[in-house]
Parts: sequence; C-alpha cells; structure tokens
Amino acid sequence: MLSKNLSDEMNNQIKFELYSAYLYLAMSAHFEEANWGGFAKWLAKQAQEEQEHALKFFGYIHDRGGKVTLQAIETPPSTFGKPVEIFEEVLKHEKSVTARINLLYSIAVKDNDYASQEFLNWFVKEQVEEEKNATMVLEWLKMAGDSVNALFQINGMLASRG
Ligand code: MG
Repeated sequence: MLSKNLSDEMNNQIKFELYSAYLYLAMSAHFEEANWGGFAKWLAKQAQEEQEHALKFFGYIHDRGGKVTLQAIETPPSTFGKPVEIFEEVLKHEKSVTARINLLYSIAVKDNDYASQEFLNWFVKEQVEEEKNATMVLEWLKMAGDSVNALFQINGMLASRG
C-alpha cells in the first residue's frame, strides 16, 4: 500500500505530467502557426510522451491499491517568444519535472517503499534524457542566433524525431 503522502504526490504528478503535455502542445501549436513543422512535430511528440508518463502513474497507483483522483489542469500560455526563448522554457520546465521526480523518490525512501523506488527509477533515467535533449536543442538555437538558414536546418533535424 502506498503511504498517504506518496499517493497524494503521485496524484499531483498525474496532473503535472498532463500539464507538461498541455504546455508542449501549446508550444507545438505556436510553431505550427508559424510554419515551423519540425519544431512543431518535436514538441507534439514530447507532449505525447508526457501523456504516457501520466498514464504510468495512473497505472502504478492502481497496481498498489491506491485511488486516482484527477484534478483540473491549468491553462498553458498561448503566446510565446522566439524559438530560443521557448526552448529555454522547455529546459526550465524539464528541470522542474526532475525536481518533482526527486521529491517523489525522497518520499519513497523515507517510506522504505522499495517497489515505488523501483518504479521511479525509470523516471530518474528518463529525466536525464529529457534534460539532455532539451539542452541540445537550446544550444543549437543559441548557436543559430538570428540566422534563418540555421533555424531551417534545426527545424529539419527536429522533423526527423520518430
Ligand atoms: Mg514527463
């Protein structure tokens, strides 16, 4: 059985993951409108992964006999700055996700809940990847500066995300 504290925070995490999906989908819409299909596709894929993360928590809470209570999801922003600013926001958001996962892990450790630690290990590794990928795109955008040519190249590379 999950502790009350861990169960509550895992329920909050479902909301948090779904908000992440909403945020990335809003960013994706912004790029679609501006005809930057590669950036839009990368962020739409990211949004899809966040929904899968939410469902992992949804499944795990049930596996442990807990109760899922869904909460309202905040409205994401609808206006955005330049690509480099958007990816600064993506990296900042991923760091806040990492902090959330670390919080959950610290509760699981305090609870001596080994099953939850094992479950959360996947997310610990996933966050290393997420921060790495967001940093990579951000670094490319910083290098590109105001070069439309370079932006087109980055857009093309991001379009290839499976
Ligand atoms: Mg996530």
